[in-house]
Formats: sequence, structure tokens, C-alpha cells
Amino acid sequence: MKFTDFNLKETIQAAITEAGFVEPSPVQKDAIPIILEGHDIIAQAQTGTGKTAAFGLPAMSMMKGDGSVEGLVIVPTRELAMQVSDELFRFGKLSGLKTATVYGGTAYGQQIDRIKQASIVVATPGRLQDLLMSGKVKMSPKFVILDEADEMLDMGFLDEIKNIFTFLPKDRQTLMFSATMPPAIRKLAEEILNNPKTVSITKAEKTNTKITQLYYVVQEKERDDALVRLIDYKNPDKCIIFCRMKKEVDRLVAHLTAQGFKVSGLHGDMEQKQREVTIRAFKGGGIDIFVATDVAARGLDVNDVTHVFNYQIPFDSESYVHRIGRTGRGGKTGEAITLVTPNELKTIKRIEKDVGTTMTTQVIPTRMEVQNNRSDALISKIAETKVTENAIMLVKTLQHDLDIVTIAHLLASLVQEENFVQGKDNIGLGLEEIELLIERALNSRGAGSGDRSGSRNRSGGGYRGNKPRTGGGGSGTSDRHGRNGRSTGGRDSRNGGQGSRG
Ligand code: ADP
Ligand code: MG
Repeated sequence: MKFTDFNLKETIQAAITEAGFVEPSPVQKDAIPIILEGHDIIAQAQTGTGKTAAFGLPAMSMMKGDGSVEGLVIVPTRELAMQVSDELFRFGKLSGLKTATVYGGTAYGQQIDRIKQASIVVATPGRLQDLLMSGKVKMSPKFVILDEADEMLDMGFLDEIKNIFTFLPKDRQTLMFSATMPPAIRKLAEEILNNPKTVSITKAEKTNTKITQLYYVVQEKERDDALVRLIDYKNPDKCIIFCRMKKEVDRLVAHLTAQGFKVSGLHGDMEQKQREVTIRAFKGGGIDIFVATDVAARGLDVNDVTHVFNYQIPFDSESYVHRIGRTGRGGKTGEAITLVTPNELKTIKRIEKDVGTTMTTQVIPTRMEVQNNRSDALISKIAETKVTENAIMLVKTLQHDLDIVTIAHLLASLVQEENFVQGKDNIGLGLEEIELLIERALNSRGAGSGDRSGSRNRSGGGYRGNKPRTGGGGSGTSDRHGRNGRSTGGRDSRNGGQGSRG
């Protein structure tokens, strides 16, 4: 199916082509025809599935662009307001449809002026209610859209929303989008929607198949080491690490900063300004790692997040889906990595069942594996490097005292020192051990944490399945290198060495 199969007007088609969209996403396939037919709609689809275009394209296709406010989009947060507004602007600019963004915390005057020129207003509930109640703004939008309706209710905006609707015309088309459909959402839908059609993207489609889902089993006290090792191994461009508690966020930020990563925490109680500055730094690449709680990451839409780490597994399946949906956006691939303790394997199995997905378990790479990875990257980097005048001069000078092979060895050691991987050789549990634990977790219903008497109970923890320990090598290398590599050369040299940061 293609976008041209919908009956969208030409200028909107052109904007879609310009945006580079080729194939409509599932929610777009289902929702666009219904909206074009003039129906109210209640649509459920996960984050990152293209809901903005699903309501934006058809609604805008039906707008006249006569200078009045024809569309009103209500969103939970200021960031979302800006994001949605940007996306809608992109779709509407060839059709002469202007957008205005309305949110709290800034002056009224300018926002009111913008609204007067806009075809589409994207607003957060609080400020919108203020504007409507004060009479400073009047509008009769033909299209009213509630985006991320579940988050708005979670954030306590129900009264505002109901109140806002008393100011809106009865003769309107109302579109409601939500990642989840709890009873409160259905109740609200009954009140504000008129004979709605329902779109629900089924479970199989709901989890983005472009996201690889992995989990690693570690002991509680190994979480930090495991996290650092995995970041070292995966070398993510941009990643988000999820924790359950705010104090854990602070602790991890300090820990990872000390390790030389470019990292920042994202707090629910951060000031709006500070939050925006941080998010901009993350988008721009000044920060590579965000550590966040679920609440803080609400509505966060950053493209190019390559990895999501669950430092702790979330309590419920919905949070899990929300979290991992921060990667694999806009048709890109992504990886979601969850750390669990043996006790938490049950939760993994429950989430898999709820979400209708399977996660793959893996063994945390050994220090040598990471080291080898880096050496490979270094070798390709060396092969690609151009020889400079300065380098030729340097080698000439060195040749006064040393032979060429010794010089090569010394230079290689210098570069490798910065690439040194720290930490113990093996972290976490091996495959066979994990399999055994999974079996136990599945068999043991109820409290008792398991009969250990089974005949399959092979003792000898730490057996690493089909991956034999790489003996010796590297473990003799002195600690000094490890510390140096981490604290001086730090991340930048490492990344340079890997050459994978574009
Ligand atoms: P949601 O609201 O469901 O979380 P968004 O509307 O924010 O998702 O879309 C997520 C990303 O996917 C955006 O960057 C958007 O531009 C992109 N996108 C949306 N639809 C398509 C499509 N059909 N093809 C390619 N990219 C798309
Ligand atoms: Mg959205």
C-alpha cells in the first residue's frame, strides 16, 4: 500500500514525498481512510508508530486554509506540542497551513497573535483552558484531536479537557489517539466522540518488529558492571537508560560520568527550561546517554536512539512497551536491552506473554570480546587512515634511535592503551545457567522459590554455555592500563578508535 492510494490532496501528497515517507504505517493505513470519510475515531497504537501523520494528513487534506483555526490538537506536554507542531508544519506548508503552538510558562501575547494567523493550533490543556476561559481566544475548529490521551489523563488533565470541550463547536470531527485504552479513556471517549470508529493495532503489530529485544541475567550487585560492559560492547550512538527510582538515576549519572561517558539525567521534577536544554544537547550529540525514570521520559521523542537499556526491568508490560518504543523510531532499527536478576526472570516471561513477543537471552561479553571488537575496529580504522606530513616527520625523528618494527609496536601500544577495557572478565550468568533458571521460573508456581532437588540441577555456577572462557589473555595486563584508559583517554579516544561515531 502507498500513500497515493489515499485520496489526499496534491499539496499534502507532495509534502509526504518531501518528508521521505514511502509506506504508510499500520495505524495510518487504518485511520486515514476513516478520517477522510468524516468519522470520529478512537485509535490505539504504540509510540513511534506514526500517529501524528495518521491524524494530521487526512485532517489537513480537508482544511481550506482560509485563515481561521480549522484544527485543534491537544497534547499532554510542552515538548510534544512542539514536536507535533513541527511535524504538522512540515506536512502543511505546501498547503499554506500555518501552525501555532500554545503552552504554559510563556507570555500570552505572542501566542495569541500566532493563533490568529494559524490554521492549526497545537496546545497543552492548561494554557488552552486559560485562553478559552479568559475569552482572549475564540475558535471553532472543524477537527479536534486528542493526542496521547492516556498520558493526559495520567497527568490529571481530565477536568481541563472536559472544560475545553464546552468551548468547542458541536459540529466537529473528533479524533482520539492513545497508546493504551484504560477504562477512563473509554469513558471520556463516550462523552466527547460521536459514533466513533475504532482502530486498534493488534498486539503483533503493536510491538515494533524493528526493535531487537535482548536480556541479560546478572546478580544484583553486577548491574553497574554489566551496564558499562554492554555500553562498551554495543557502542551506542545515543541511548536511554531506564531506572525505577530517581535516586538510582542520580547515582548512575555520577557513575557513568566518572567513567568518561557523556551522560545526563532526565528528571520528572526538572525545570522546563533545563529539561529542554538537556534534550537539545541529547539531540545534538553533546550528550550520548540519558538516564531516566518512566515519568521523566514521557513524551520524549528523539530520533536516532539506537539503544534502550532497562537497568531494572519495569513493573508492568505497558511501561516496557513504552520504554523500548523510544528506539526503532521512524522505520529505523533499534535494540532494547534488559538487565534482570535470576528472581526477575518470571517478570520477563510475563512481559513476553503480555506483549506477545519473545526476547532473546545472551551472555554478557567478556573483557576479551570487547577488547577484540575494539582491535578489529582499530585495524579497519588504521587501514582507512591517511598518512600526514607530520607523521612522516615524526617517524623520521624516531628512526634516529629505533628500528621501524619497534616504532610500530610502540605506536600500536600507545593507541591500544586508550582502548583498554576495564572490569572483570566475566559478568553475569552463562547460557546454561540461565536456561535452567528459566525452566525453574516457569515450573515453580506460587511462592516457594523453587525446588533445587531436580535431577538436572547441575552445580558449578558461572558455566558460560557454549562460549568457553577465553583463558588467560589480557587478565595479566596490569590494572594501571585499565585505570589510565578509563580516566584519561576516556570516551572520546575510545570512540575515535572505534571510528563508528559519524
Ligand atoms: P507516535 O505519535 O505514534 O509516537 P510519531 O507520529 O511521533 O509517532 O512518528 C514517529 C516517527 O516516525 C516520526 O519521526 C515520523 O516522522 C516518522 N514517521 C511517521 N510515519 C512514517 C512513515 N509512514 N514512514 C516513515 N516515517 C514515518
Ligand atoms: Mg505522538
